[in-house]
Parts: sequence; structure tokens; C-alpha cells
Amino acid sequence: MESGLFEHSSESGRTLLARPLESTETMPEAVISSSRPRVLSGMRPTGKLHLGNYMGALANWVKLQDQYECYFFIADLHALTTDYADTSKIVPNTLEVALDFLAAGLDPERCTIFVQSHVKQHYELPLFLSMITPLGWLERVPSYKEQQENLVGKDLTTYGFLGYPLLMASDILLYQPQFVPVGQDQQAHVEITREIARRFNQFYKVNGQEVLPEPKVLLTPSPKLPGTDGRKMSKSYGNTILLTDPEAELRKKLKTMVTDPARVRRTDAGDPDKCPVGDLHKVFSTPETLAKVYDGCRSAGIGCIECKGWAADALVQILEPIQTRRAGFSAGQVKEILEDGSNRARARAEQTMQEVRTAMQLA
Ligand code: SF4
Repeated sequence: MESGLFEHSSESGRTLLARPLESTETMPEAVISSSRPRVLSGMRPTGKLHLGNYMGALANWVKLQDQYECYFFIADLHALTTDYADTSKIVPNTLEVALDFLAAGLDPERCTIFVQSHVKQHYELPLFLSMITPLGWLERVPSYKEQQENLVGKDLTTYGFLGYPLLMASDILLYQPQFVPVGQDQQAHVEITREIARRFNQFYKVNGQEVLPEPKVLLTPSPKLPGTDGRKMSKSYGNTILLTDPEAELRKKLKTMVTDPARVRRTDAGDPDKCPVGDLHKVFSTPETLAKVYDGCRSAGIGCIECKGWAADALVQILEPIQTRRAGFSAGQVKEILEDGSNRARARAEQTMQEVRTAMQLA
């Protein structure tokens, strides 16, 4: 999953630990209240973001910033857990991701956008959590073995990779959020954070009070978004449509997109429910266009080229304002926004760390 904080995830959605989720909420439509609950989420600096990142996370975050007190961060320390051998792209990729955050509509006046490594408390809490977390919890995380098998050519038998759930738990717990917005297949990652918080709270308290509240899952929409080869859109598959793709590039990519394999000839009828282009239409096209796609495809009344053209039209509508916003930011402005956000995040995180140190009798 590239669309959120928890990219090391298993896409199977298996639960990491035995205990089921205690609490899950779905994303509300309306503004909740003026005393906003806090949410936090982040994304690894993978470079320019794609439509899958947008639909799976960013578009939801943009809505959340008016309903919650939001912290959104770029998880550059997480990049080190797998890309430690070549760190040269982390800073440029961080800037690209920040630009895409802003282009998508995150507003630094309405949410806090920061870089994980700029907030040193993200280095301290994982150490404390590492002292109390049983090794078996980390070894049982499904993605631990999966990623070791999938990322061929990278030695992931490292302490840092095994311990990434502690980095992730710290990212969340430092801000004491009520909610972590995730898609359906990401819930298990919040659960291990809850388990770790629970264990910490069993050992340490301040005046009998728990210090690390267990965050709840805030279920956000995460529509099925295929890449150009029909598999899930993912940078690692090389099948993405980037938020920055110019219109000509976007149309070129769609032209090569796979379709319903039953439609070999123009005269063969197809089924949009078995076609990745159909999936794009379901997410992005108007009901009128979608009806034309179903009718035309099932009766062989339209060709795939025409149908793909309609999908491209819908995507252009989505991407055009994003690209216009992106062009309005200079690198200097982005750096300033990140610095300001990191200052705000640091102040909030330090508040938690003071309580943690007190609870552990280290202060
Ligand atoms: S007409 Fe559209 S939905 Fe049908 S197979 Fe072709 S591209 Fe897919």
C-alpha cells in the first residue's frame, strides 16, 4: 500500500495480532464540532505521487482538514528502513511529496504538514517502545516476511526493518490522536499501535493516568484503482498515472491500458465490470458517461479507444486543478511550509514526550 503511512503493509488485510479491533469509525460527511478531534497520517517519500495515492489517502485528507485537527507528515525515516543503502533521493522525494500534498489541496493554514525526521521526538519514543515490545509481536507482522521476499536485492534482515512498527506506533502516539484515517486493508496497522500503547500504559502512568491513549481507526474511502496493467496502481509495478502527468502523457498511458480480455475484436461485446478502464470510469466518470460505457461496451456499440478517451477526459478534469495549484508553489515556499509545520509538530510531540519521560521516571 502506497497510499498511507503504512506502506510495509500486507495487502491481505490480515490482523497482525489476535485481538480484533475494538473501535472503528467511518468517515463522517459533516463537520463534527469546533473542538476538533485530532487525526494523524503520513506517507513515505516515494517521489511524485500517483492517482492511487490521491484516491486512497490525499483526497480523504483534504476533506478531513476541515473536520479535524490534522497532522500530516512525510515519513522519511520510514524510507530508511528499506532504502538505507542509497539515501540520495530522500530529500528531493520529500519535496516532491510535499508539493503533491499542497497541490492536492492540503492547506498549511488548516492542517500541520511536517517532515518526520525534523521532529527529533520521533527518534526518542521508538527507543522507549522497543524496551517493552515483545520480539514475537514484530516478527508476526505479516509484511515483515512478505517484504523480505518481495524486495529482492535488499537485505532487510536489519534491526531497523524489524522494528519499523515501533517507528510507526511512535509516529501516531506522539500526537495522541483520537483517530488514524486508514483504508479497509490498513486497519491492522493501527491495531499494533493500540497493542503497544496498551502495554506502555500497563507499565507506566502519571498520577495513575494513562499517557498514551489508544487511537481508533477512522475508515476512509479507498476505491479500487487499477494501474495501466490492470494490477493495483503502485509505483513498484510501474503502472501509475502521476498527479503531474501532462494531458498528452495521460492520454498515451490510457491508450495502452489493458481492457476486458473478452473484447478481442471491435465487434466482441465486453463487460466494464471485468475491465480496468471500467473501474476508472466507476471512480471518476459522471453517471451519464458510466451509463454510456455500460451500454456501449456490452453491445459492442463503442470501441475501447473511444471509451478510454472518455476516461482520460474525466481524469483531466481531476488533475488539471491539482497541476495548476502545484505550479503556484516555489521550492522555497514548500521548505518554509515544512519548517513551520515541523515546528508546530515538535511542540505537540514534546508535550507527549514530557509525559512519557515523567511516567518512566526519567525526568
Ligand atoms: S469498451 Fe471500455 S469498458 Fe469495455 S472493454 Fe473497452 S475499455 Fe473496457
